[in-house]
Amino acid sequence: MKPLRALRPDEIAPSICEIDYERLWRTGYRALIFDIDNTLGEWGCRALSEPTEILLRELAARGFSLGFLSNDGGQDRPRLKEQLRAWPVLWRAAKPRTRHYKNMLELLKTTETETVMIGDQLFTDIWGAKRAGLYAIFVAPVSPKTDSVWAKLRRPLERVVLRLLTGKDARYDDPDEREHEDRKSAPPH
Ligand SMILES: [Mg+2]
Repeated sequence: MKPLRALRPDEIAPSICEIDYERLWRTGYRALIFDIDNTLGEWGCRALSEPTEILLRELAARGFSLGFLSNDGGQDRPRLKEQLRAWPVLWRAAKPRTRHYKNMLELLKTTETETVMIGDQLFTDIWGAKRAGLYAIFVAPVSPKTDSVWAKLRRPLERVVLRLLTGKDARYDDPDEREHEDRKSAPPH
């Protein structure tokens, strides 16, 4: 696979709440792997919000197998671990390396063609997913301000690449940025 193709998400969504999971189910997808930081909650979040917890439970009730892949070590996050205890979580996943994507498929007893990866970073979540043969959905980060130092550095490049590959911008939920965009698009006085 050409390197740039491997960075192209199959879909872009503003958040995990705005993914058409029913369509994924009808298309034949049966497993969903989520990134954690800035996908399910802010970077470093110690707990999931109630709506996110409910969404995960509903997806599991619908029949999806759920798994979680994080490059973080998961230390000091007992509440989050408790909330995710029903499902496999692989910490220190070393995305975009494909090894833990494959381990997760084994844990979920699913195949590449039935599995969706959902994450907020092109250069880790999406790149690894495409290389592992998964369907990949890019979501805008929950709060880019809370990104890790490395993620913050990668965001400008990520936007350029995303725009090149898909012609779209991620809709970042950043009020300052929206204000800036509004000002830019406002008609001149
Ligand atoms: Mg993330």
